[in-house]
Amino acid sequence: MARLEVRLLGDPVLRTEAEPVESVDAELRRLAADMFETMYAEEGVGLAAPQVGISKRLIVIDAQSEDVKPFALVNPEVVESSEDTDRGEEGCLSVPGVKELVERPLRVTVEATDLEGRSVRMEAEGLLGRILQHEVDHLDGILFFDRVSPLKRKMLLKKWEKVRPARAGS
Ligand code: ZN
Repeated sequence: MARLEVRLLGDPVLRTEAEPVESVDAELRRLAADMFETMYAEEGVGLAAPQVGISKRLIVIDAQSEDVKPFALVNPEVVESSEDTDRGEEGCLSVPGVKELVERPLRVTVEATDLEGRSVRMEAEGLLGRILQHEVDHLDGILFFDRVSPLKRKMLLKKWEKVRPARAGS
């Protein structure tokens, strides 16, 4: 396994719609393993392939819950969202140092393929539901602060300019 470089805000890959995965094979499983390693090294709870520069529809999640083991999803799609919403603080490994309250549907149903190529359907709410939505957004080039008010986004980006790691400008 290898730790991969997390791409930061400003990298165009984060704003690109990722390509569907065509075949679940050893190469994809290796990428997922590397993404898990990277996520743990960065102390994140989720990571999407575009965040490591790979424009493919693959996410890994560890919601740090006793009930749900860490998992990877291939070509995940949110097929149902509740009308009830919930606000919770989010951050992102690609935008380190800034956090914001984001309002999202409380519950979602996601359909995907697992790393063995089997179809999976998952209902999630609370933190897990939030992480799932955040990571699936990455596959569409959407970042968490796109979902807050323009004023809050402006303040967040101002803060990011101050705290952004130097390599982000390169
Ligand atoms: Zn993120």
